[in-house]
Amino acid sequence: MEKVRTRFAPSPTGFMHIGNLRTCLYAYLFAKKHNGTFVLRIEDTDRERYVDGAVDVIYRTLQTAGITHDEGPDKDGGYGPYIQSERKDIYMRYARELVERGGAYYCFCTKERLASLGDGSGVHKYDKHCLSLSPQEVKAKLDAGEPFVIRQNVPTEGVSEYDDMVFGHIAVPNADMEDNILIKSDGMPTYNFANVVDDHLMAINYVIRGMEYLSSTPKYNLLYDAFGWERPHYMHLPPIMKDAQRKLSKRYGDTNFEDFLAKGYLPEAIVNYIALLGWSPKDNREKMSMHELVELFDVDGISKSPSIFDEAKMKWLNGEYIKCMTPREFADRAKPFLDASAVAGKFDYLKVAKLLIPRVEIFSEIADKVEFLRGFGKYDPAMFEHKKMKITLPLALEVLTQCAEVLPSVDEWTDENLKAVLGEIAQKDGRKSGQIFLPLRLALTGAATTPGGATEMAELLGKEESLRRLDFSIGLLKEALA
Ligand code: GLU
Repeated sequence: MEKVRTRFAPSPTGFMHIGNLRTCLYAYLFAKKHNGTFVLRIEDTDRERYVDGAVDVIYRTLQTAGITHDEGPDKDGGYGPYIQSERKDIYMRYARELVERGGAYYCFCTKERLASLGDGSGVHKYDKHCLSLSPQEVKAKLDAGEPFVIRQNVPTEGVSEYDDMVFGHIAVPNADMEDNILIKSDGMPTYNFANVVDDHLMAINYVIRGMEYLSSTPKYNLLYDAFGWERPHYMHLPPIMKDAQRKLSKRYGDTNFEDFLAKGYLPEAIVNYIALLGWSPKDNREKMSMHELVELFDVDGISKSPSIFDEAKMKWLNGEYIKCMTPREFADRAKPFLDASAVAGKFDYLKVAKLLIPRVEIFSEIADKVEFLRGFGKYDPAMFEHKKMKITLPLALEVLTQCAEVLPSVDEWTDENLKAVLGEIAQKDGRKSGQIFLPLRLALTGAATTPGGATEMAELLGKEESLRRLDFSIGLLKEALA
């Protein structure tokens, strides 16, 4: 196999869509799998769509996602410039060459003439009017400074064919293709031209991109042929859908990589999940590191059918990553979320992390889970009543009073030790363990739901604060029963 060179060619729109990131990831995985080179090229010829700072979003996204390009605007590999707007002269030079080779021609048609070509349906194909201009006529118009575009000269007969690595044999009748504009009147190339010139000059031999280009690729191949260049291999990727009918798009929200990060998704989990949008490894494994993805990635595993972006599944996968974290890692990585929650400045993040690791799937769930720690004060003692557990208010008071007698002498204030101590009390008195743990948990937190049971809460709060809260709750119950 020749040395593989793939590229990711985003347009700087200020936004990295999940679909773009998937294309980027596959191009990266394919290159790395074959010890090849992964190139980043910025396709900024559409100046109307240009957004300031958008290139930074691309760099930042790649870096956060753990996708490292070998060449790009910031890493010269000898095939630059890697930004299309800096290659304007190159396109013009090649377009002229193509005109000489008969693969393209100058077109001077006015807007009005083009509009008159319509058949009323809004669809109109250019009629090759300017193809019949003589070289002298063209020269005269150019010399006179008439505005022009350069169009591809697509044959009117025959069929253009190629084999796509995912979709197999593709054949498009030439008559179905337009003489697309290659160079616009502002001198800028269109995507249709620039992608071919750049891929050739950058020695890209595997073109990996979205399926929307599947049927225009024969046109691009005609350009390769007209130049006498070797065609690359193509891998077109199936679309990512929001549901059975709708393509995943910005319009429906929730498609931006950075928005998911802000929601507390881990980049490695997002990358892992999007790797599975359209591809699966032979053993159907789901949780894979970047290293494993590189090892397992294989064109045979790419599906032809669209895949549905299922956020619930991504969340589940994210939770699997969180479950593998140590409390230290969790505390570090979730720090911004912890800092913005009720535990900020009040609780030991490592202890909080221990409780949350099995209980949150994404970091944005942290705030709600620890909200009950914001304050502790008067709450409704009716909460202690529990029919199924046969807990009445007098029983709760009795149990808590017992706790208040025993707990001050417990030195090793840990979840495990406290569990043992309380378990013994329950056994001695012939009570169900829930008849002690439930009232105690309520007494310590005043909250109906908490991430963890009584002894975990006690460990988190520490001995002094636990005993203080226990006293307060006993007072509350006494008041209620008085
Ligand atoms: N700039 C194009 C896009 O963002 C790239 C398509 C391609 O990979 O050739 O859709």
